[in-house]
Amino acid sequence: MYLEGRVEIVQGDITELAVDAVVNAAKSSLLGGGGVDGAIHGAAGPELLMECRGLGGAQTGEAKMTRGYRLPANHVIHAVGPVWQGGAAGEPELLASCYRNACELVERRGLRTVAFPCISTGIYGYPIEPAAVVAQSTVREWLLGHEAPERVIFCCFFSNDLAVYERIAAVELALDP
Ligand code: ADP
Repeated sequence: MYLEGRVEIVQGDITELAVDAVVNAAKSSLLGGGGVDGAIHGAAGPELLMECRGLGGAQTGEAKMTRGYRLPANHVIHAVGPVWQGGAAGEPELLASCYRNACELVERRGLRTVAFPCISTGIYGYPIEPAAVVAQSTVREWLLGHEAPERVIFCCFFSNDLAVYERIAAVELALDP
């Protein structure tokens, strides 16, 4: 934990977290897919897909919010991460936009807690190390300037991802005011 307990890193299944919002690593159609997207739709039930059909998709870097339906989380924030193309196609900035736009939705809707998966690091192929740096530095910068979210949870599915996140968190901790 760092930033006075506002940032927490856990290993687990994001569909089990009882937070105000879980973030989904969505495709731009917002109509479901594999990985965490499939897990979230599976756990939330078919009503989630029905609501997503009305959203009209989203651009890479954008985020849109729905209800959480059968999830313990009240809302789902569908963020579209970039597909990794080697790193010189604007991927870091697009990935940072996902985290910023999700935090902005949390603030705008008056929510308090949000959990993120490691966006883009599965099927979209973003290497975990640089993705974890973007995730944590972008969220830190947001939190330093805003009261919401009160708490951000980084939910790593694999133990290797957790180890990478914790190593980067140690650097972030050293930056704490
Ligand atoms: P993307 O297309 O953005 O790469 P993926 O769903 O393939 O999305 O992968 C994003 C991250 O989500 C990966 O780190 C993957 O291990 C993780 N993941 C998959 N299932 C879950 C889950 N149930 N809870 C949390 N994270 C998950």
